[in-house]
Amino acid sequence: MASRTPKSEFRTPNLNRITGLLLRWFSANARELPWRRTRDPYAIWVSEIMLQQTQVKTVIPYWTAWMAELPTVAAVAKASPDKIHKLWEGLGYYSRARNLQQAARQIVEKHGGKFPAHFDDVLALPGIGRYTAGAICSIAFNQPTPILDGNVIRVLTRVFGTSKNPKEKETNAQLWKLAEALVASAAKYRTTRSSQRKEAHSKTGNSQSLLTSAATRARNYSALNQSLMELGALVCTPRNPQCGICPAQKLCVAFRENRVAELPNLGKRDAATARHFVAFVAERNGHFLVRQRPADVVNAHLWEFPNMEILNGKFNPNLAAKSALGVEPSSLQPLCTVKHSITRYRITLEAFRVNLKRTRKIRLSEIGVWRTPAQLQQLAFTAAHGKILRSTSHHGPVPKSAGR
Ligand code: SF4
Repeated sequence: MASRTPKSEFRTPNLNRITGLLLRWFSANARELPWRRTRDPYAIWVSEIMLQQTQVKTVIPYWTAWMAELPTVAAVAKASPDKIHKLWEGLGYYSRARNLQQAARQIVEKHGGKFPAHFDDVLALPGIGRYTAGAICSIAFNQPTPILDGNVIRVLTRVFGTSKNPKEKETNAQLWKLAEALVASAAKYRTTRSSQRKEAHSKTGNSQSLLTSAATRARNYSALNQSLMELGALVCTPRNPQCGICPAQKLCVAFRENRVAELPNLGKRDAATARHFVAFVAERNGHFLVRQRPADVVNAHLWEFPNMEILNGKFNPNLAAKSALGVEPSSLQPLCTVKHSITRYRITLEAFRVNLKRTRKIRLSEIGVWRTPAQLQQLAFTAAHGKILRSTSHHGPVPKSAGR
């Protein structure tokens, strides 16, 4: 059974051999993940959206809490935006959560609440691109839909030894064709009886290996795609890949030619840009001043303390507080500094606790709202401002004359 990769600079290890190696390896090494215990397309969809840009160990508690609170598409469609944001708080990239809800509402309207099984219908939903549609259709419905994300790109460029930049249109299209050929080749693969026995008694002791029965063998498309994801996440990692235990090692062009560290060739990265913000935690009679971010900015709809960007390096905290709050503080004290990154920005956020002279003069419609600590717990804060909120509980009130 000769197989061919697309015409390109990709070397051509035998696709069927790679498929067989990947399926056997996945059968014996697949991690026990909560969303792998179900074929509910809704549950798999939620896991795939959460896993975008986010590690498995971070996602597990979020997915578990989400599924407990919102067990169906209809429940997501009906939930309040505040509830959606609160369940997503800390996961980042909040547009994912808003798209999930929009998509859930579309599923209710167009598909009667049943998650669609056709690739084109899945792809048409908000927040679902070709990779996610391919992942859902292959994992939930065992369709031969290819997947290609950063992990899979890394595995394929190394195994097939391409030094072209996978972000380039033509190379990217070739990688998609390769992923398509790989998943399609999984249909031909059958585990042998001896390999089944071996898997069943593998050192993992996992007697429920995914490919040890005829019924589970029929799910080869799902297993093949998941094996690529798993290999990229656990073995063929960006740094220090574990070639010594890799199932694809004997066919891997990059390994054979000692080019593993060079691939994938992602070109030059844009240098990170440093940005500096200051935030002010104002308290009045046990209430804190907070505001909600507008709809058209990063972290839209999430909550934060009044803040501003410092553009010229040095700043006067009192003047900055007056600018951010509309009134001059009577005292001010450093609270904490939070460092984090968003896309290509490295952000330093300095927080101060402030006492205000004339809180009535604050134009609340512009600056924010007063909320009790109990009310703040119900709001979804940006990750950085959530850290500031937590640090407020570790500090007492601001001394009346501090910082002046
Ligand atoms: Fe990746 Fe190394 Fe395996 Fe090749 S042999 S696929 S470089 S882990």
